[in-house]
Amino acid sequence: MSPPADNAAPHAGAILSIDLGAIQANYKLLQERLSGGAEMGCVVKADAYGLGAEKVAPALARAGARVFFVALTEEGIRLRQILNDTGESAFVQAQIHILGGLMKGAEEAYDASRLIPVLGSLDEIHDWKDFCRRIDTPLPCALHVDTGMLRLGLPPDELDKLAEEPARIEGLDVVTVISHLACADEPEHPKNAEQLAAFRQVRKILPMGRASFANSSGIFLGPDYHFDLARPGVALYGLGPTLGEPNSMAKVVRLQGKIAQVRDVDSPQTVGYGATHRIKEPGRIATVLAGYADGYLRSLSNKGTGYIGNIPVPVVGRVSMDLITFDVTNVPRHLTTPGNMIDLIGPHNPVEQIADEAGTIGYEILTSLGNRYRRVYIGE
Ligand SMILES: *Cc1c(COP(=O)(O)O)cnc(C)c1O
Repeated sequence: MSPPADNAAPHAGAILSIDLGAIQANYKLLQERLSGGAEMGCVVKADAYGLGAEKVAPALARAGARVFFVALTEEGIRLRQILNDTGESAFVQAQIHILGGLMKGAEEAYDASRLIPVLGSLDEIHDWKDFCRRIDTPLPCALHVDTGMLRLGLPPDELDKLAEEPARIEGLDVVTVISHLACADEPEHPKNAEQLAAFRQVRKILPMGRASFANSSGIFLGPDYHFDLARPGVALYGLGPTLGEPNSMAKVVRLQGKIAQVRDVDSPQTVGYGATHRIKEPGRIATVLAGYADGYLRSLSNKGTGYIGNIPVPVVGRVSMDLITFDVTNVPRHLTTPGNMIDLIGPHNPVEQIADEAGTIGYEILTSLGNRYRRVYIGE
């Protein structure tokens, strides 16, 4: 489940460097953007967006984070263990919210790991209340109200029921009330203001605990969206929160693939599976030891761009499971010998660019990063 620790794979085909100092800098940058007394909660679901919760969560705690969000119960159990292992009492006390809600029959597991279910239906509210009554302890919980995602959260009719029958939540220790924005990365989208108005209505009915509304992009929509507790994920990990705007976050990830072999080609030939790329002029092809099994998506075939120093080298032919082929004809020979590195993600081709080339979003590139890399954490 957890990725190999530093240097666990000294002979790996690629090196994934994760800059914990940059994550901490991003934490501070987002904190500074928040208005008034708004607090930072950190989203570390999906193994901290693929970067390794074991290292990332303690780094965030050292930067000041005391509130965390994950998606699933098992992620919460693991995160509690990670924070306990730090031995720092302030980190051990941190709050962990489970965005996925209360899984059926998991009440005891939540209690044992001090997990806060983000209750998103009257049924879940009922089950949690029932459990708290049984153990005679009002354990903390959060409420999720849907304001336009149609995914999780109390739908409008269930919110109305709560308003009519407040006894349904009497005795619950609600520490957080959340809702989630659908279009926060598009500041001009009318849906943002609609959801904001809806969430303000929600707070009239459910004024208890902290209000939590903004994800990374939501923080950049301005103070109206901040409320009491923000929930950034992706911006902590260095991705730009607003579409089409320069990225002000510090870069966190670098991925360098090792050249295994270089082939001189002096007659017309094709490269790789399906013979999808034809070499017409004499040139050179470098093969790197990473592939779609490592999260270098197959859709980057004939589309992706690597870099050797500041020289772009295009992916030619199909990305295969363990190998990628680059056209290095324009690169000085001494930089392309076996063992030399090609930036698969780096200063000139950040996560967003690879995502564009692959026809996806940066989130998917990060969470696809494989576990065969040698992982190096910088600034522990
Ligand atoms: C994933 C998630 C976040 C974090 O979103 P980012 O866009 O990564 O900042 C916040 N809230 C909820 C409910 C989420 O599912």
